[in-house]
Amino acid sequence: MAGIYFHIPFCKQACHYCNFHFSTSLQLKESVIDGMLKEIAQRAAYLPDKKVSSIYFGGGTPSLLTRAEIVRFFEQLHHFFDIEKDAEITLEANPDDLSKAYLEELSQTPVNRLSIGIQSFKEEDLRFMNRAHNAAEAMVCIDNALAMGFESLTVDLIYGAPTTSDKDWADNLATIFEYPVNHLSCYALTVEEKTALHHFVKTGKVPAIQEEKAARQFEYLIAAATAVGFLHYEISNFAQPGHFARHNSSYWQGEPYLGIGPGAHSYDGHSRQWNVANNARYAKAFQAETATDFFEQETLSIEDRYNEYVMTGLRTIWGVEQTTLAAMGPSFEGHFISNAQQFLEEGIMLKEGSHYRLSAAGRLLADGVAAALFY
Ligand code: SF4
Repeated sequence: MAGIYFHIPFCKQACHYCNFHFSTSLQLKESVIDGMLKEIAQRAAYLPDKKVSSIYFGGGTPSLLTRAEIVRFFEQLHHFFDIEKDAEITLEANPDDLSKAYLEELSQTPVNRLSIGIQSFKEEDLRFMNRAHNAAEAMVCIDNALAMGFESLTVDLIYGAPTTSDKDWADNLATIFEYPVNHLSCYALTVEEKTALHHFVKTGKVPAIQEEKAARQFEYLIAAATAVGFLHYEISNFAQPGHFARHNSSYWQGEPYLGIGPGAHSYDGHSRQWNVANNARYAKAFQAETATDFFEQETLSIEDRYNEYVMTGLRTIWGVEQTTLAAMGPSFEGHFISNAQQFLEEGIMLKEGSHYRLSAAGRLLADGVAAALFY
């Protein structure tokens, strides 16, 4: 079943490492939301199925939306889609927005899962990243969310920052494990072009990222999270049994999704579409009765689909399935099997039935292994 993604392209301040699409000016918030409501109507036929099992508000900072704005999205969705009764409805939130009053407002909307961008419980890390919250807010917001009845919580954490020692990372994990949080997404800090961090590294203001330290902290994460019952089901994602993220899992399993808003991506099973990552151009396009010129599209070749499947499949516990490869054609199946042989012999990959997965050692090399298997 399909999912719908809403990109809310506004933030209070720019985190130094972030290369997502967002603006720190809220001036166009209303006109972008108006455009998004029109985009829902205009693109209602994009998904092959009207039934929707997951909705995800990402960004940017969706916790800048008011209760009334969230309700407007749902009023419009109900005109065009059949939202499953038990649909997973996630909203990304920053700790500094999750006051008791705001959580109470959220509890009056259909949102039933919060993805909280904590990143670290250490003050020095948060300052280094230029996050808008402090360590105390990071902890209080989890208590507030639980007290307001949000039982389905996922938390984002970042490792490998120059300010994060191995002990700091272990302390961050120990802190989060004290809470009944049932899902974790943990990312290595990366230096992306056109970010403040990229500039700081280039000019020597901050040291380059130490790959070895990041790999060590990733290994520690896997051991520590699995020791307290989390399943490592995607390279950056860990869930308690029964709490896999439905929306993100559908991306990884190649299901169609509709992305609404500036910079949002969509996939219909054959082609990818990405909306213009510019709030003013997006809002202007939707002032017309029928918006045009607000997206680009690419039809995926069978080679693209094979490569994407191998890339995402190897990152998950579902792995790469031989019958799916066979359905793409004997040359793809043969290419994968002959090239995977070396990784099986080296213990980097495991074969269970008709599934090929990465071993624990292989998970540290996921991108390189996938690249070697590309067609
Ligand atoms: S990390 Fe999140 S809060 Fe920070 S700038 Fe990027 S989108 Fe905004």
